[in-house]
Amino acid sequence: MDVLTKGVLRFETEIYPQRKDFFDKLIARQFPRALFITCSDSRVVPNMITDSEPGDLFTIRNAGNIVPPYGEAMGGVSASIEYAVMVLGIKHIIICGHTHCGAMHAAMHPDSVAQMPIVRSWLNHAESARRIALGYTDLSSDQRDIIMVEENVLAQLDHLRTHPSVAAALARQEMELYGWVFDIAHGTVLSYDGEQGEFVPMSEHHMPKATPHRRRRAL
Ligand SMILES: [Zn+2]
Repeated sequence: MDVLTKGVLRFETEIYPQRKDFFDKLIARQFPRALFITCSDSRVVPNMITDSEPGDLFTIRNAGNIVPPYGEAMGGVSASIEYAVMVLGIKHIIICGHTHCGAMHAAMHPDSVAQMPIVRSWLNHAESARRIALGYTDLSSDQRDIIMVEENVLAQLDHLRTHPSVAAALARQEMELYGWVFDIAHGTVLSYDGEQGEFVPMSEHHMPKATPHRRRRAL
């Protein structure tokens, strides 16, 4: 904890004073650029991988960047989505998975969480992705884990579309959805291209969107 406590002191005495004008502008209200849904994993830092600032990302985090389908679990995830869309006027939602994800590994190997009933129940929301990933019988276990991460992002995007606030905004063509995978080992982020049906690199000229949605091509 020493490291974190010293960090707070440094923030209060050095970082905040240097950027007081910036923080003053955020006091009245927030205008986030996107809703960012990602894993709780400590190695995924949304503002770092998007090179963005406080106020830029309205964030939901949980084990496995999961979005329960509407009506399944009326909890914090659903409430935060509704608030982001209805109150903050969010028009871009990113679901960001990541490589080496412990939650996705556990989802692929349910025996490993047999003694953790809450985790096991939570990961049931990724079951459709698991079934798809298990179908890649010619791949190694590690490769299937990567497919699992990607398919889980797509499954959670499907769940996201069941939320009324999102469905209505999509119908009005006022919402874009994005499916990303952060590769920890390479420092890259791939984005699901709904037109091509695959995860591709982003560029200044091409920001792939998960909408319109098309079934993924077999590898
Ligand atoms: Zn994770």
